Amino acid sequence: MSPMLQVAGVAVSPDHYIGGQRVASSTTFEIFCPIDQRVLGSISEGQPEHVEAAISAAQQAFPAWSALTAAQRKPYLDRFAQEIGQRADALCLLESNDAGVLLSRMRHGVVPRAMLNISWFAEHALDLQNRPIETEQARHIVRHDPAGVVVVITPWNAPLMLSTWKLGPALAAGNTCILKPPEWAPLTCSLLADAAHAAGLPPGVFNVVQGTGAQTGAKLVSDPRIARVSFTGSVPTAKWIAQAAGANLVPCSLELGGKSPFIVLEDADIDSAAATGALMYRNAGQVCLAGTRFLVHDKVADAFVSAMRGYVEKLTVGDPRDEATEVGPVIHPKQVERVLGFVERAVAGGARLLWGGAAHPFGAQYIQPTMLTNLKQSDEIVQNEVFGPVLTLQTFGSDDEAIALANGTDYGLGGVCYGETAHATAVAERVRTGFIWVNSFGIRDLAAPFGGIKRSGIGREGGDWSFEFFCDVKDVVVPKKPFKASFSHR
Ligand code: NAD
Repeated sequence: MSPMLQVAGVAVSPDHYIGGQRVASSTTFEIFCPIDQRVLGSISEGQPEHVEAAISAAQQAFPAWSALTAAQRKPYLDRFAQEIGQRADALCLLESNDAGVLLSRMRHGVVPRAMLNISWFAEHALDLQNRPIETEQARHIVRHDPAGVVVVITPWNAPLMLSTWKLGPALAAGNTCILKPPEWAPLTCSLLADAAHAAGLPPGVFNVVQGTGAQTGAKLVSDPRIARVSFTGSVPTAKWIAQAAGANLVPCSLELGGKSPFIVLEDADIDSAAATGALMYRNAGQVCLAGTRFLVHDKVADAFVSAMRGYVEKLTVGDPRDEATEVGPVIHPKQVERVLGFVERAVAGGARLLWGGAAHPFGAQYIQPTMLTNLKQSDEIVQNEVFGPVLTLQTFGSDDEAIALANGTDYGLGGVCYGETAHATAVAERVRTGFIWVNSFGIRDLAAPFGGIKRSGIGREGGDWSFEFFCDVKDVVVPKKPFKASFSHR
């Protein structure tokens, strides 16, 4: 076992958590703080033997965990949620330091949601086995049996939220899980293992294998003993995972990138659309579901730009550990280079900066909130996910044109539509996307489906959709009248 890391006064293990125990690797990788680039520590790097140990621990734990009823699993998971709550301060500090997420957002949004991700699904698993279909002929007992060992792979922009979002339903349904955290921000997932341990989850029910995607992640998703892969991340990685898992016919849920439209119709409340627009810079724009392509009606474009500029100028860019900060750092120097590269190429190609466009003086990994206009639909920056504080603005003259622009990329994750409610709802219904908010942003309910279409993903998670994915659904057919065998019977 390696010595604990000390990050912002929080003691956190750099090791894997396998079969209920901390396990160290002989090789490690370093992680850095995006706020000031200091080294936070060295993390155990999952080798094939750690992947093997985790799969074997999860397999061994599966028969007993899956044999429990949902009601018997619920107290474990409720305790797991409580133990997450007990570590609220530590989780906030860790994710602010390793991922640069706003401390205020962690405290008020992410940690309460992480707890709910576990407890809500534990509660809702209770009625999973009780959904018979009655016909004149037969009673169909529709069982939701746990699939087996589930691999959960998450990205760096929201490690705690996204890991618990997948672990909650997977565990509640009776699966055993292996979590592979993001290598740029692995600390809160390590603390999640402490919470699971303190909650008394039986050894092997929940495992964490740290490591890089190319090595540890790839090994996990290629293993034929895995029953499901639940992945959130980028499109190129998803293609790789789908191929590796596909070779074993292992089902994957893929929640991927976005290039979502933010539509402002002629009859929109401009001030409220502009205030919501400024929210797209939250987490330095590293939010998959943000509306990043502003599509604004010609007649209100000037008023909208002026109102949004007012909100953007008031944004506080700074240290995410400061409660007043609204825009923090970009995760990694490579990401800074990537984001600024998009801006430079767009400007070289004729785009015009409405605001921002350069590094921000606050620190090496800070970028000014940026808005580009004078763009063609085919431009790289309109078509590709930037994943930084960089937005684009195009105008339109009719609903049909707005919808054509909205639907004119390969992505289809989310969207925002501002306008008179009935009008905005009608437009929103025509946008090809997994979800879309009318005159609002970010309203999420655990019972609702979440996911994307086109390049933004395959499958839905949330509510029953999560259970459908993490379970083997079986129809046990019991005839109501004596069954007489006959060759003419259908
Ligand atoms: P990424 O695809 O590079 O990495 C995501 C995870 O996959 C990491 O844990 C990484 O280690 C792992 N990984 C990488 N290669 C792998 C391989 N060959 N096999 C198995 N695992 C592998 O993505 P990222 O840069 O960490 O995250 C940003 C992306 O995530 C953006 O595209 C963003 O839109 C997307 N995202 C989507 C959602 C959603 O819900 N749709 C939410 C958040 C982020």
